Amino acid sequence: MDVNVPSLLVAIIVMSATLVLPVALVPLRQHPELRTWAWALGANTLAYVLFVLRGQVSDLLSVVLANVAVAQTLVLFYLGICRFQQREPSRWLSVAPVLLVGASFPLLLDKLPLRVMLGCSVYAAQSLACVVILVRCREQTIGRGQYLLMAGFTLATLVSLFRIGAAASGYMELLSILLTNPVQVTTFLVLIVALILFGTGLALMVHERSESQLARQSGLLEQQNRLLQQYSNRLEAANLSLTELSITDSLTGLGNRRHFDEVLRTEWERARRGGKPLALLLIDIDCFKDYNDCYGHQAGDDCLMKVATVLRTSLRRAGDLAARYGGEEFAVVPVDADLEQARQLAQAICRAVAAQALAHVRSPHGRVTVSIGVAALVPSLDAQSEPEALIRRADAALYRAKEGGRNKVEVDRLPARCVNAPS
Ligand code: GH3
Ligand code: MG
Ligand code: MG
Repeated sequence: MDVNVPSLLVAIIVMSATLVLPVALVPLRQHPELRTWAWALGANTLAYVLFVLRGQVSDLLSVVLANVAVAQTLVLFYLGICRFQQREPSRWLSVAPVLLVGASFPLLLDKLPLRVMLGCSVYAAQSLACVVILVRCREQTIGRGQYLLMAGFTLATLVSLFRIGAAASGYMELLSILLTNPVQVTTFLVLIVALILFGTGLALMVHERSESQLARQSGLLEQQNRLLQQYSNRLEAANLSLTELSITDSLTGLGNRRHFDEVLRTEWERARRGGKPLALLLIDIDCFKDYNDCYGHQAGDDCLMKVATVLRTSLRRAGDLAARYGGEEFAVVPVDADLEQARQLAQAICRAVAAQALAHVRSPHGRVTVSIGVAALVPSLDAQSEPEALIRRADAALYRAKEGGRNKVEVDRLPARCVNAPS
C-alpha cells in the first residue's frame, strides 16, 4: 500500500483543526488550560497548512513561519500543562524556542541539514520538557489522561531525534518535507498517533479532574450537612434546656410561679371548653417561720426540697402540675380531677408530708406538716371568668385549714359552678 506524505500532512491538518472544535465546546472559563491547548492545535494546523504549501508560497512562510508555528504549538502545549498543574511556567521554555527558530531559520534557508538538526533539537527539547513536568506531577494529577499525554510527547521527542539522526547520517534528500519516503512516512504517521494521544489525553485529564472536584465538593457538602445537623441538634437541646430552666423553680425543681400561671390559664380554658371542673390545691408549710428560726435558713431550704419531693411523687398523672407558688407555699393542678378526687389527693399529700416525720419542735404537731386548701370550679362560658376565682377559693379553704389547727385539708364549700370575674 502506498502512503502519500502530502496526504498524511493533510490528515494532520484536518485532525488538528477538528480537535480544536471539541476543545472549544467545553466551558473555557472553567478550564482555562483548554483555551491554551485549543490555540496550540490552531498553531499546529497553521504549521502544516504552510508545510503543504511548500514551493507555492515563499520560503519565509513555508519554512520560517511554519517552523515558528511548530515551536509555538509546543510552547502552548507546555503552557497549558503548566496551567493545568497550576505551576509557574519557565520563562525560558515559553519564549526561547520561538525566538530561536524565528531568528535562525531565515539564515538557514539554504542549509537543510543544519535547519533540520536545529529545529528538531528545539522540538525534542520542548517535547521532553512536557514529558518531564507531566512525570514530575504524576502523583498529584488525578486519572489516566496524563499517561496518554506523556506517551504523545514521548513519541514527539523520539520522532524529532529520529529526524536529527537521519540528518546527521546525511540522508538529506529523505527529509524534504513533501517527499514520500520511509523516513517521512514514519515521521508523520507517528505524529498522527501523537496528535490522537494529545486530543484524547487532554479531554480525559480535564474530565477526570472535574469528576474528582465534583466528588470532593459533594463530600464537603455532606460533611457540612452533618455539621449543620449537629449544630441544630445542639441548638435544639440548648433551647429545650433553656425553656426548661425558664419554667423551673431553682430551689425545688418544681414548676415556678410563671409556669403555674400559664398552666392554670391553659387548663382553665380547656375546662371551660369541655364544661368540666378544674381543681386546685394550695399547700402551705405550717409554722415555717419558726422552722427557719429554730433550724436555720439552710435547713429551711432542705425542708422545702423535701416537701417538693413529696408533692412530685404524689402526682397521679403525667399532666398534673406541682409548682412553687411562692415562699413556703406550693400549688398542685391535677388534670381532669373533680373536687372529691382533688380532696383525696390533698389528703394523700398531707399524710405523706407528715409521714416524713421531719422534726419541728416548735410546731404543735412536733414535725413538719402542711395545710392544704382545695377548690374545684367549672369555668362559666362567660369569657370574663378568670382562674383567679379558683385561687381565691382554694386560698380561703387553706385559711380555714390553718384556722382549724393546721396539718389538715379543707375543701371549698361554695357551689362548683362559676363564675364571673370579680367586680
Ligand atoms: P403558717 O403556719 O401560718 O403558714 O406560718 P408560717 O410561719 O409558715 O408563715 P409565715 O408567712 O409567717 O412565714 C413564712 C416563712 O417562710 C417566712 C420566710 O422566711 C420563709 N420562707 C419563705 N421562702 C423561703 C425560702 O426560700 N427558704 C427558706 N428557708 N425560708 C423561706
Ligand atoms: Mg404562707
Ligand atoms: Mg406557712
